[in-house]
Amino acid sequence: MLTPADRERYRRQLPLIGDEGQERLREAAVLVAGAGGLGTSIALHCAYAGIGRIRIVDQDRVDLSNLNRQILYRDADLGKSKAVAAAERLRGAGPHLRVEPVEASIDAENVRELAEGVDLILDGMDNFDARYLLADAARECAVPFIHGAIHGFFGQVTTIIPETTPCLRCIVPHPPPGGAVPILGVTAGVIGCMQTAEAIKWLAGTGDLLAGRLLLWDGLRAETEVLAVEGDAACPVCGEHRRKCE
Ligand SMILES: [Zn+2]
Repeated sequence: MLTPADRERYRRQLPLIGDEGQERLREAAVLVAGAGGLGTSIALHCAYAGIGRIRIVDQDRVDLSNLNRQILYRDADLGKSKAVAAAERLRGAGPHLRVEPVEASIDAENVRELAEGVDLILDGMDNFDARYLLADAARECAVPFIHGAIHGFFGQVTTIIPETTPCLRCIVPHPPPGGAVPILGVTAGVIGCMQTAEAIKWLAGTGDLLAGRLLLWDGLRAETEVLAVEGDAACPVCGEHRRKCE
């Protein structure tokens, strides 16, 4: 049941997702993988929407060159753990919010443990090696993987649902090289918000997801394109030989 204070706090969104949807957000746990430009945008909006539990993972410390886009941090956070600083900044953003900061890099050893016990995974990573690991863990745990990636004025979003949509390897078979790319804060904000909107819709059970569809945002031209994505029948992950979730 929503409390009277919940009802007032969420008065402007209850007409959109209903009491039941709001309660589902409160009961939900999400993994925000990465606390950089995408991850800080995602975590902020998850918290304010009323999602109850956020596990946020990042190994890095806040650097001055992060402060054009990583909106949970201030000058006073320089040198602090991003995961811890993000958790501190989010405190009080929701009445039921619990944030679990994890200072770690995501690798084959810990990915399954990080993905355990959440309802979905939000991709705020900056490299595809970690994204593939996370997407595989999401599939094994039978939870959605909401992919986002950004570069300059450009970004993309898709929602991968195990046993339903093509996997990340099918959608992005040839990832771009990693490393520092030019980036604007607004690009991280736009794409992170689109990913959070997907999470809210999935949890509240409303709207149409970007499932089987890849949204491309070109901020320079102010254009958006949505492509249908095709799975590879021979894909070892999601094709006919796909691994089954336990
Ligand atoms: Zn596949």
